[in-house]
Amino acid sequence: MKTIEDFNFENKKALIRVDFNVPLNEALEVADSTRIEAAKPTIIKVLEDGGSAVLMSHMGRPKGQRNPEMSLKHICDTVAEIIGVQVKFVEDCVGDNAEKAIAELQDGEVLLLENLRFYSEETEGDVAFAEQLSKLGDVFVNDAFGTAHRAHASTTVVAQFFPEHKCFGYLLAKEIDAIAKVMKTGEKPITAILGGAKVSSKITIIENILDKVDHLIIGGGMTYTFVKAQGGQVGDSICEDDKMELALKILKEAKSKGVQIHIPVDVIAADDFSNDAGTQILDVDKIAAGWQGLDAGPKTLENFKEVILGSKTILWNGPIGVFEMESFAKGTIALGNYIDEATKNGAFSLVGGGDSVAAVKQFGFQDKVSYVSTGGGAMLESLEGKTLPGIAAILQG
Ligand code: AMP
Repeated sequence: MKTIEDFNFENKKALIRVDFNVPLNEALEVADSTRIEAAKPTIIKVLEDGGSAVLMSHMGRPKGQRNPEMSLKHICDTVAEIIGVQVKFVEDCVGDNAEKAIAELQDGEVLLLENLRFYSEETEGDVAFAEQLSKLGDVFVNDAFGTAHRAHASTTVVAQFFPEHKCFGYLLAKEIDAIAKVMKTGEKPITAILGGAKVSSKITIIENILDKVDHLIIGGGMTYTFVKAQGGQVGDSICEDDKMELALKILKEAKSKGVQIHIPVDVIAADDFSNDAGTQILDVDKIAAGWQGLDAGPKTLENFKEVILGSKTILWNGPIGVFEMESFAKGTIALGNYIDEATKNGAFSLVGGGDSVAAVKQFGFQDKVSYVSTGGGAMLESLEGKTLPGIAAILQG
């Protein structure tokens, strides 16, 4: 696996695919710069070697049209502030203007190209467009994990024009390492915690990780499909009746593979889907009509705690309660605290996929776990066992 460490960029132009798909506020200023900060080490390495950095990214979904509100010029100042170097901007990402800006670019300088998705060829993975992009650098560096699951021109197709001169940036290499630490080389016992709303959105992950983990904790809205499938009474809790058979199949498969499944035994049940609802603690399989389980109960949390503190590798995807409402966030917070404790005791913990990161950030856990993934969809697809095209394109010789 070639990373940026394998190259010296002296007198070289690095064409870096970054993920600067950041949210802008109404004044068109960067509202959250996490993704820009995440790309900083890679850019700095190129500059410190004595090279120049050509940054390319998409932002939003302009669908092949020039949309001034989605111009990357709005983020130029923030990028400059974060990396501590002036950033030049060119109002195109291919063609004469872009090539002229590249020709004028000196060692030690940074150039940001215009939004790639102003061209529909980008998302179409157009080869001629990728070839035009390839003229803008000597080495292709992919550091955009957030789009690594897309076979777009700048994330995947462009790599073929750099047969010898392509590599992963620090961020993408870190993401690949973190996934491997859970899925391939993780120290046992390995525990996966899957929460969130629905079985249907997590089923491919469950099927893939049953071969890899020792414990599977199931929480959140998924719980009730498993409980009802086994004959429990779940009241008005979220439940996918058409997935009950699948739930039973998963339980059987887990048993045959020696995976221990942990499902909540008690819940905080509410008489309404609202923060001010009346609540009571109920056994998970004795929820009467008019009540719905919205968070894990105390006995459940004790069980989960024991499993987590006994684990050496932990993967966390999805909240175990409706964490957006304060009244039902306690289970998710407790879970984060157990993972924090396990991590302090030496476990490796990875959080990622879909909206998991939102919960982690809301409660300030991002510095307490070993690694928080920067890619929602890309992480989900990795956990499903798929090879991401953006990663494969760098690995192919
Ligand atoms: P996901 O995107 O699948 O990870 O789902 C995240 C969502 O699951 C969050 O918005 C939570 O509010 C929701 N969720 C977690 N537990 C429950 C529950 N018991 N009932 C309904 N929704 C839940």
